[in-house]
Amino acid sequence: MTLSANIGSPEDLDGTEELGVKSVGLFRTEFLFMKSARLPTEEEQYTAYCKARDKLSGGMLIIRTLDAGGDKSFPSIQLPKEANPFLGYRALRVSLDREEMFRTQLRAALRASASGDVRIMFPMVCGMEDWTRARAALDAARAELAAQGEAFNARPQVGIMVEIPSAVFMAEELAREVDFMSIGTNDLTQYLLAADRLNENVAEYYKPYHPAVFRAIHQVVEAAHRHGKWVGICGELAGMPPAIPVLIGLGVDELSMSPRSLPEARHVVLSTSSAEAKGLAAKALQEKDAGTLEAEMRRYIAKE
Ligand code: PEP
Ligand code: MG
Repeated sequence: MTLSANIGSPEDLDGTEELGVKSVGLFRTEFLFMKSARLPTEEEQYTAYCKARDKLSGGMLIIRTLDAGGDKSFPSIQLPKEANPFLGYRALRVSLDREEMFRTQLRAALRASASGDVRIMFPMVCGMEDWTRARAALDAARAELAAQGEAFNARPQVGIMVEIPSAVFMAEELAREVDFMSIGTNDLTQYLLAADRLNENVAEYYKPYHPAVFRAIHQVVEAAHRHGKWVGICGELAGMPPAIPVLIGLGVDELSMSPRSLPEARHVVLSTSSAEAKGLAAKALQEKDAGTLEAEMRRYIAKE
């Protein structure tokens, strides 16, 4: 099991060596777009990506392309006011519409991949159409860089976030084409359970340990492994100790979380046997009731 960190800027890596941070499974790039009323230049993005890469001394850095919209607003990007922003114009949907903005980000990420282990990930992929369009944008950025003689890695790993239920159902087809999948359980949970992750009125319906969430993860892991691809989790669930034994048992390959959560997560990983993890995962897949499942998971972790 690989344990990685989620970061929102290169500075988030400062002082994290003692927490054992060696790789980044989710670099949220929104901070670059929040700073000013103009879009960040390619050089500004490139500098930020290289800074994070160099702090990892060769460890994996997964750069997620812009996740605009939803709850996040940006002075540099005009987004329409919407009644249901989480079901609206966000993330890859915005990037695919703004060709130049998207290409600038992809060029910067590709150039940063010239050294180290830099990978690229697309958020909010709905299915094959999104993937095909995002990959075409990446190919265009590659072709431009090659024509200009810029240094970049022509074959970095390129993956998708699985955070929309349709991507779970299309996991087989997507797994055939991507290099990896990282499950964004924050959004996946809100979409599976139809409970806005920020709406306190439905907080009791937003259940991170709901059996449907584990069944979805299982489906994605099985599909990815059939095609020899690895699967991570980069939503909050990855750093929640009661969930970790189940996630191990389901065959998840990587957990990416807030750096502060890493020491405890590492302890849980090291003290969970593979047989116990498999047993708990089997229970999670059979359980009908969210409360019973959560109690079972908590009971196990309290014994450790
Ligand atoms: C997620 O949805 O689980 C995720 C990691 O992305 P974000 O929290 O940035 O939407
Ligand atoms: Mg998300």
